[in-house]
Amino acid sequence: MKKEKAVVVFSGGQDSTTCLFWALDRFAEVEAITFDYGQRHKLELDCAAEIAKELNIKHHVLDMSLLNQLAPNALTRDDIAIEQNEGELPTTFVDGRNLLFLTFAAVLAKGIGAKHIVTGVCETDFSGYPDCRDVFIKSLNVTLNLSMDYGFVIDTPLMWLNKAETWALADELGAFDFVRERTLTCYNGIPADGCGDCPACKLRRKGLDDYLAERVPGEAVR
Ligand code: ZN
Repeated sequence: MKKEKAVVVFSGGQDSTTCLFWALDRFAEVEAITFDYGQRHKLELDCAAEIAKELNIKHHVLDMSLLNQLAPNALTRDDIAIEQNEGELPTTFVDGRNLLFLTFAAVLAKGIGAKHIVTGVCETDFSGYPDCRDVFIKSLNVTLNLSMDYGFVIDTPLMWLNKAETWALADELGAFDFVRERTLTCYNGIPADGCGDCPACKLRRKGLDDYLAERVPGEAVR
């Protein structure tokens, strides 16, 4: 593994930053790819760029504004509220997002000679997003390999972790404080502990509280 190269799909949030540390721990070379799809908060892109710079990682930012054109959603449009009605997908779901992101990441990966593509998708807290499911990732992996005749491996270190376990993983990687202080998960664009009120903040906070309740200071639990 240590000789191999990986591309991390990176948004500057808790999950993908944890994945970045996970990849740095495993691979000889790591590059990050961030997609600009007209997020409400440009700060998300700045946050990703700053983290990549600090960790000395080559950072690619791709313009994916066509995604917003095709699939208007609450992450990009101020006039669409963030909500989830019973039996429906949340308004934060963007059709095709992970399919397109991972496909573009694969094209980049092959171009730079990387086989591994790391993504922070997670089925445990997946909010019903169909493109965060393990079965989708496995299916896409086969499709990508066939489409480019190349041996991609899509790595999903968070797939079966809950939010508390994701904090534990960051801690194990020596990145707990970094992830807590430097990442942006909040839908209202407030870094670190965020606004505390939006669904993303609530999920992050609950995981953090659960983890802190069992954490031994200075020593990772898992
Ligand atoms: Zn928030």
